Amino acid sequence: MRITFVTSNEHKAREAAGILAGLAEIEHVPLEIPELRYESVAEIAAGKAAYAYSVLQRPVITDDTGLFIHALNGFPGTCAAYVQKTIGNTGILALMAGYANRSATFETGIAYHDGDCQRSFTGAIKGTIVLPRGCGGFGYDPVFEVDGKTLAEMTEEEKNRISHRAIGLHALRRWLAEEKQ
Ligand code: IMP
Repeated sequence: MRITFVTSNEHKAREAAGILAGLAEIEHVPLEIPELRYESVAEIAAGKAAYAYSVLQRPVITDDTGLFIHALNGFPGTCAAYVQKTIGNTGILALMAGYANRSATFETGIAYHDGDCQRSFTGAIKGTIVLPRGCGGFGYDPVFEVDGKTLAEMTEEEKNRISHRAIGLHALRRWLAEEKQ
């Protein structure tokens, strides 16, 4: 089966292609999708998938990621892209000065839409906000630590074994294997 991953982020498309390998061939289309505002990453991903399907008219996957920092009452949450673009990791670290509780959750909603059928899945991982380390990955990876390593210090395979996106994509993979083969 062939599915189009619609994202402007090539890292995400590569991660998805790795996880769905052997089941689906992933084509990457960097279509700009208007950012929808909902509280949940699954709802935002589903809205993006409906939009992407309406434009491309073929099976699509979209995703949306949120970062929820517990000491900041869940900020930046589903506004993670805007916050990364404006104040970035340096700004996040400045906001957290003085907080002993550094815990945070990364969440990704993964949505599938093929015209007949639409489904969404959520993956989450817990970690800690730390000073930046590592040179892999993208976005918040250098400041998000899990079990002693930031996501930017992991290889793509290591990140794909544990990440919020990987958990959501594995749930999609299981569902596709049952429903679509
Ligand atoms: P979006 O899903 O592209 O809107 O992601 C929100 C923000 O989180 C963007 O700034 C992304 O760069 C960042 N982001 C998404 N996924 C990851 C990830 O796996 N690691 C680090 N940052 C991420």
